[in-house]
Amino acid sequence: MSQNPSWGDPSRFVKEIHVEESCLELPFTQEILARAQLPFTVIPDYQDLDVVPGSYPANLTAGKKHLLLCRNRGQFFKPCPGTREYRCCNYQVLNIGMNCPMDCVYCILQAYLNKPWLTFFVNIEDMFAEMSAAFAAEPSRFFRIGTGEFTDSLALDRFTHLSRALVNFMADQPQAILELKSKSVVIQNLEGLEHKGRTVVAWSLNSTSIMAKEELRTATVVERLAAARQCAEWGYKLAFHFDPIIEHEGWQQGYAETISRLFDTVPAASIVWISMGALRYLPSLKNIGTRRFPQSRIYCEEFIEGLDGKSRYFRPHRVELYKHIYNLLKSRAHANTCIYFCMESDEIWREVMGYVPDERGGIPYMLDQTVLNTGQ
Ligand code: SF4
Repeated sequence: MSQNPSWGDPSRFVKEIHVEESCLELPFTQEILARAQLPFTVIPDYQDLDVVPGSYPANLTAGKKHLLLCRNRGQFFKPCPGTREYRCCNYQVLNIGMNCPMDCVYCILQAYLNKPWLTFFVNIEDMFAEMSAAFAAEPSRFFRIGTGEFTDSLALDRFTHLSRALVNFMADQPQAILELKSKSVVIQNLEGLEHKGRTVVAWSLNSTSIMAKEELRTATVVERLAAARQCAEWGYKLAFHFDPIIEHEGWQQGYAETISRLFDTVPAASIVWISMGALRYLPSLKNIGTRRFPQSRIYCEEFIEGLDGKSRYFRPHRVELYKHIYNLLKSRAHANTCIYFCMESDEIWREVMGYVPDERGGIPYMLDQTVLNTGQ
């Protein structure tokens, strides 16, 4: 299955930039405009873009060609919205923007957002001030932070160079670690930084055919793993996320292929954690996904509604998927790599991994220890 190899940098899908008037003179905005070399318009503050005709989500594909630079008037930094019903990892989300130029059939943002364009927040001084205040308020807490919840961490980095500012900031934060999570390979800005081990660079991985068919405008598996190896050579810790794991024809072989490639390409000792999560979605996402991608079969399997209102595969199917992938990972992973589930029950943990997180201090503790044990 072949992909267009040139989508390693998905920012080239963006065709026009829109800037909120009050942000236009910010040096950061000017830097982005100079790098992007795209036509731009200035719009009044708080005004929605009227350049994307049609209604949401039908206009989402067209909307992803437009990037809005604006001020974040809410919080940059907040806990990941895990649910009480399943085990979560106590992650802090750093909200750098919304939406992404890539287009995955299963992307939760399709149902979560209601505007089709990409948004990037340019008042980053406020963001750094908010992080510093949060660290100072809880000096004995260890923070695991990610920017990849409402967007992709690196997809717009050619324009923004935000990764450099974040990595440099994090280098001086002994009580925190940042995870940059991507399906792109825009890693050039990570080269030559004194990161001091405070940034983990992560990629989402899937079976080869899911990556080729259900993840539009993303980097190929070969590109992602080559980028990961390069980051390991620059001294970064790595992480990988098998999420969403999707049942499809030939899934056993598909996941086995990706896992072989992973450990053939990347040094196992550089991987701090690997997560697994089977496909789960709110009913509204299924409606959007099937309308936008009628050729996709991923929503056609049998699902059951979970305790959080999301549809999931039946438990025996989840266990079968997880056992296959976990055993492959475990056979080649380094002893210090933490393999964990994103949002699963104790029953699944016990059945697949043979223990429950509480027996090892809980998921947050397990992940924190992995970072601390790798000498950073
Ligand atoms: S790369 Fe991530 S944020 Fe972008 S469309 Fe895919 S799932 Fe959504």
